[in-house]
Amino acid sequence: MKLLRYGPLGQEKVGALDKSGQVRDLSLLISELTPEWLAPQRLAALAAIDLEKMPLVIDQPRFGIPFSGGRQFIAIGLNYRKHAEESGLPIPAEPVVFTKALTSMSGANDDIVMPEGSEELDWEVELGFVIGTLARKVTREKALEHVAGYVLANDISERHWQIKRNGQWGKGKSFDSFGPIGPWLTTADEIPDPQILSMELSVNGVVKQSSNTADMIFPVAEIVSYLSQFMTLLPGDVVITGTPAGVGLGMKPAQFLKKGDVVSLRIDQLGSQTQLVV
Ligand code: ZN
Repeated sequence: MKLLRYGPLGQEKVGALDKSGQVRDLSLLISELTPEWLAPQRLAALAAIDLEKMPLVIDQPRFGIPFSGGRQFIAIGLNYRKHAEESGLPIPAEPVVFTKALTSMSGANDDIVMPEGSEELDWEVELGFVIGTLARKVTREKALEHVAGYVLANDISERHWQIKRNGQWGKGKSFDSFGPIGPWLTTADEIPDPQILSMELSVNGVVKQSSNTADMIFPVAEIVSYLSQFMTLLPGDVVITGTPAGVGLGMKPAQFLKKGDVVSLRIDQLGSQTQLVV
């Protein structure tokens, strides 16, 4: 199932994508897609809805963050070999973990707001996953049972703040609008293997990143298990899993986003995003 929230910011309604790719309104059944709805029994109840009988949303709505009430926004760094190399950093022996502010999360096609004075604004297409059930010290074998579904994400990064402001990547990753998520959450039953998804990102129509989640150093199951050794993951937590090569910082010379640029990205089964830099 592809679950989503649509409508103006702050007034989103719950919906789902039907077989023909059209949005169906579920707001008569569910007032808000809270983390409780990400539990397996609840998702099974949602999957039982006959979408063809639900009202069709005719206009092209704005997509909000696909669920509400997320608690943590966690990111993995340098999880693709060639990206670590282009960043001039060693291949990590264990996952690099950092956090993005929850307030950086935005809708799939919302504008990217350039911070004042920013000169090193960059893009990062990433596979994200959303936790459905509490995960604490889980094994790699059981890890995917805790994943409710997957989302497309753009880990927007301001490299000056990330690298040159005395530590903690989160500084350059947490500005408002730096975390477009969605357009929808594809439930895990539709993606039994998250390591076979092709991904692409282009800027102003020119392809910059093109890869596949098969190239991850630490796959999703390992990331869930690893994180859960030192922190409790809760329903609604979002984890983005690192970006492949082709970011602006890795170009020679480096290329960064400027006002008016259009960023487009997609991952198999997770839909696409298009953002304008303002
Ligand atoms: Zn990233």
